[in-house]
Amino acid sequence: MIRLPRMKSLPYFCRGEVIRGFGRGSKELGIPTANFPDAVVDKLPADISTGIYYGWACVGNGDVHKMVISIGWNPYYKNTKKSMETHVIHKFKEDFYGETLSVVLVGYIRPERSYDSLEALIAAINGDIEEAKVQLELPDHIKLREDNFFTGGRRSTPPSSSSQTIMNGH
Ligand code: ADP
Ligand code: MG
Repeated sequence: MIRLPRMKSLPYFCRGEVIRGFGRGSKELGIPTANFPDAVVDKLPADISTGIYYGWACVGNGDVHKMVISIGWNPYYKNTKKSMETHVIHKFKEDFYGETLSVVLVGYIRPERSYDSLEALIAAINGDIEEAKVQLELPDHIKLREDNFFTGGRRSTPPSSSSQTIMNGH
């Protein structure tokens, strides 16, 4: 039996500005990943280990979509710093660098792994996406989509300057 790590911090809510990544060409693979700044990554609770998670995501005041997020070691910092990269399961008309991305990490899928080929990596990510789609249909998980964390952002006045602060337990 596979033993999944127990993570008391899930579901975990956070938001931050979408920054440029290190151009590993995720988009060319058909799987763009929106990167969070270090400030967001540094606030991750200790029990949220590296690996792949599924959850919900929303860009600016837009719709809430399913997502997969990878928490891993950032090669840019010689693997001394973590990175958080979100693939939103939705086709966007354009890039959203500089926008606020709000996410809730709902469940853990698997640890990080290295792959022998690009094809194997893409197949694994596509498997994660399918897993996320199924898991997020569970009633307890669907509920999180309607959370105030997302709907509260859908107001007529612009969000305050605190929109980039980390919110958990909101
Ligand atoms: P980078 O190295 O700058 O992160 P990527 O190739 O990973 O470049 O592309 C990420 C960017 O693609 C995001 O910052 C966002 O602006 C855009 N993008 C478009 N569609 C999506 C999507 N479905 N999920 C995540 N990012 C997306
Ligand atoms: Mg990226």
